[in-house]
Amino acid sequence: MKIIDAHSHIDYITHLHQPDVVGTVCCATDESQWAKLLDLMRQDKNIYGAFGIHPWFIDSVFDDFEGRLFKLLQSDSFYMIGEIGLDKYKPDMDKQLDVFIKQFDLAVKLRRTVFLHCVGAWDKILHVLKQYKLSDLPIIVAHGFNEKENILQNLLRYDNIYFSVNKIDVYGGKCRIDQIPNNKILVETDGKSDVNMKNLVNQISQLKNESDIDKIIFYNTQKVISNGQIK
Ligand SMILES: [Zn+2]
Repeated sequence: MKIIDAHSHIDYITHLHQPDVVGTVCCATDESQWAKLLDLMRQDKNIYGAFGIHPWFIDSVFDDFEGRLFKLLQSDSFYMIGEIGLDKYKPDMDKQLDVFIKQFDLAVKLRRTVFLHCVGAWDKILHVLKQYKLSDLPIIVAHGFNEKENILQNLLRYDNIYFSVNKIDVYGGKCRIDQIPNNKILVETDGKSDVNMKNLVNQISQLKNESDIDKIIFYNTQKVISNGQIK
């Protein structure tokens, strides 16, 4: 089995720990991590970097961070954007929105995949998406996806949104993992060493009764990490 972890962080490079994992998407969470991530990527070509500022760390933002992010992204057409988003349970939604939109704008301008953190703010995210032409939207990965079915159905209207999961247990009216279409599903650890990627893929395979799901997920992930270059 060949798996790429679609969402981890710089302190857990999944393919160094799990034999079936051949690559890791590493998301920076604030600007201080950008240089560290670049360093790691220079040493290991199986690390796929996403650069950005996480909604939990908007306090770390200083002047013209988006200018520096733009420059960094321009230096390599494979660099992606993440982890960015909105979180209803964290302070200062206005600033979160401002930081998110500045970064999302860059993703649209440069056509880069976005790794999205969204907690309780899908209405706001959808409102932002509607400001753009559908054909201008980049690939968006809804990470740690675990939402109600109506949210899934709303998001499935967007052909460029993918759903990355790190567990298959659902409760409290959440959608079942097998409701996520095969061509939209990804797997991730979110940097947690207790997520066994091979077990996760096997569980999804059983749930979906699809023996080739590992190959399908691998292909989906390649599409995402190529910023949609692979069709
Ligand atoms: Zn994360």
